[in-house]
Amino acid sequence: MWNVSEVALQLPTSRASERLLQPLWDYLLFHHYSLISSPFFPVLLAFASYFIFSCPFAILDLLGEQVPAFYSYKIQKERRPTTSMMMRSLGMAVYNNLVFVIPVVLINNAVMPAPPLPAIAPTVWELFSGGLGALLIFDTQYFFWHMAHHKNGHLYKWVHAIHHDYISPFSWSTEHLSAVELMTVGLWSNLDPLLLQCHPLTTWTLTIFSIWLSVEDHIGYDLPWTPSRLVPFGLLGGALAHDLHHQKPSSNFAPFFSHWDRLFGTTNNVVKQTGKSKWDEKDI
Ligand SMILES: [Zn+2]
Ligand SMILES: [Zn+2]
Repeated sequence: MWNVSEVALQLPTSRASERLLQPLWDYLLFHHYSLISSPFFPVLLAFASYFIFSCPFAILDLLGEQVPAFYSYKIQKERRPTTSMMMRSLGMAVYNNLVFVIPVVLINNAVMPAPPLPAIAPTVWELFSGGLGALLIFDTQYFFWHMAHHKNGHLYKWVHAIHHDYISPFSWSTEHLSAVELMTVGLWSNLDPLLLQCHPLTTWTLTIFSIWLSVEDHIGYDLPWTPSRLVPFGLLGGALAHDLHHQKPSSNFAPFFSHWDRLFGTTNNVVKQTGKSKWDEKDI
């Protein structure tokens, strides 16, 4: 349970009544303090997001043509993941988290314990601007890391190649990663919000949203209502762009946005497949 006297000491100096997110933050503090203050909460949130977002698309993959409303949006219709492929990727994600991520969290918590949670919620603007800023920084870091790992044969072989086991990605393959890659993206995901001094609520919202974008990159369905289709001017890459990276790995290196690939001339909009996609004729 949260230390209520600490709240009482902090609230009079705040402008809590002006903050739309304060009721939500108060609810989390007063009802789930032991959970959200745990050093394992960010890992749990990240893994739960990956699991929950991946499940519906795994079911769609298993049902295939039985759900024509979704199957019509499948990018590589000639390739469908098998149950064993799905289990292998999910197993890899569980293994990497248990063997590498959790011990690092334990060590980090012993060396540098997280500060107490603040009593005041962020404003909506702080949440939006902090989240967008951290997302843009991560996108930049991963773009250059990713391009370097495709240009250097040794880096590719030892670190990134495992992510390219499958030409046609599927939701569980989002975390079909080497431990080094998972730890690298985990480090940036934790450091970037700290650099921008983001509120924990901003960081957690960013975690959920960025994992959705990562899963969306790998679902293998170019759905019309995903963020990459709803955000105008093709600012986001999305499922089609990353699917094409798995088909043609020398292109589309950015994980979320499209500006770095445009600047470096590494954008690939061409669908190379035998099946037809709803978006074959559409420019991204
Ligand atoms: Zn991928
Ligand atoms: Zn790659």
